[in-house]
Amino acid sequence: MSGRVRDYLFYDTATSVCSSCLRRSDGKIIIRGGSVFMDKLCYSCGKREEVLLADDADYYRRAREVYVKPSEMPEKWNTPLKYGCPYDCGLCPSHEQHSCLTLIEITDHCNLRCPVCYASSGPERHEDYRSFDHVVRMLDAVVENEGEPDVVQISGGEPTLHPDFFRILDAAKDRPIRHIMVNTNGIRIANEPEFAERLARYMPGFEVYLQFDSLQREPSMRLRGADLREVKKKALENLNAHGISTTLVSTISRGLNDGEMGDLVEFALSQPCVRGITFQPIQEAGRSEDYDPSKERLTLTEVRRRVGEQSSTFMVDDMLPVPCHPDSLSMAYALKVGGSAVPLTRYIDDETLLAGPRSTIQFEKDPAMREAILNLLSTAHSPQTASHSLAELLCCLPELLVPSEFSYENVFRIIIMDFIDAHSFDLRSVKKTCVHIVSPDLRLIPFDTYNMFYRGDLERTVLEPIRRELALSGQALLSPDERKTILSPLPVIQIEEVAE
Ligand code: SF4
Ligand code: SF4
Ligand SMILES: [Zn+2]
Repeated sequence: MSGRVRDYLFYDTATSVCSSCLRRSDGKIIIRGGSVFMDKLCYSCGKREEVLLADDADYYRRAREVYVKPSEMPEKWNTPLKYGCPYDCGLCPSHEQHSCLTLIEITDHCNLRCPVCYASSGPERHEDYRSFDHVVRMLDAVVENEGEPDVVQISGGEPTLHPDFFRILDAAKDRPIRHIMVNTNGIRIANEPEFAERLARYMPGFEVYLQFDSLQREPSMRLRGADLREVKKKALENLNAHGISTTLVSTISRGLNDGEMGDLVEFALSQPCVRGITFQPIQEAGRSEDYDPSKERLTLTEVRRRVGEQSSTFMVDDMLPVPCHPDSLSMAYALKVGGSAVPLTRYIDDETLLAGPRSTIQFEKDPAMREAILNLLSTAHSPQTASHSLAELLCCLPELLVPSEFSYENVFRIIIMDFIDAHSFDLRSVKKTCVHIVSPDLRLIPFDTYNMFYRGDLERTVLEPIRRELALSGQALLSPDERKTILSPLPVIQIEEVAE
């Protein structure tokens, strides 16, 4: 024996994609010094990379080994298996979770032009509105896949600029969708009190998902290209005035606003209309001007650790992996009563959670859920019995119900939602994603792979060459006709001989 020993623990193999050429690449998951890394090698372009996946190996392992439940399926699949994951989205029959939350982008137009925008939206895209009929077909596609979709998020661009915005909300309300969210920068809500008043009519089963990155000027300038503090303040005044259920959404970048997560949590807790805050580590997708992953990237566990260290209300261990996609989602619940918040997730032990009935989002129209909340919010509870009820609340981007007996002001949650990009890509995890987006041609595509391969022109410019390579090397399940088309030689220009 040579006596030479690796300085890490080899944990697993992984299939990833290369962050340069996006071909499938080979990875190893290794644990070193309490952190988890993916060591990747691309056999197409030769790029070797080591990517930090988590700075808390225990949490990473618990998410993978304990917080697992059988996958829940959609009613139907949308695409066949041909080229292998992630080149067959979707949803293809190899996917391992239904759409807990589905985004529908109704426009690419926006009244901001954020340096960081996965949809590359902006004022210049003022003609990029999806027609009302097209949006209705997209809504119907979600209903066809899900039966009763848990959460549909109307997104953009800035969806409130769409000329048919309220007609679209009406159409969503007319369908068996349990919870509707509007993903907005809040400018219209801030500037037009009557707009907020009209939004309030969609309650209950309705929520505003309000971009809210920081309480300081600098992060707002870097992420949004403008100082939006006044806008956000006014938007929240109007949302509070009308009691519109709101979640704040913060994009978190290392060294920029990762030091104010505790302040953001406390601020969110102080707003009566706010039911929670979602932290999204910055990702490389769409327009990410001057983004340097080696400096700005943050993993889920780093965000989780900072929230716990900075918040005076929540501790690190209050945030638990969410069983429908434990790699990417972490969540803490608290009960807000009389101005103070009592974190509840700390009372859940791993076994109780796994005994819960479903691994998906539950809603106000779900009687079992309602009962769980009623049980949970009982003064007769010991921590142990409370944990049993709360287990049923934990799921993907859950839509918390507002039982009529209680005000939504009583419930507060923190969600960390770590979207996968080409750096952190792990096929095992991607198959479990449950935040999906409706493509213009009505497929339901995981949000993460959509931004890598399917958005706009990417399918033609980035994905088609990869698919062709796979077909040419015999690694695709194609019908004889498809094979003939793809293998047919490219036309050759005939050059006539010119007589001298
Ligand atoms: S990510 Fe899901 S839908 Fe896309 S190819 Fe992989 S298994 Fe299929
Ligand atoms: S991130 Fe949101 S607000 Fe900013 S440009 Fe994109 S769509 Fe508009
Ligand atoms: Zn490569």
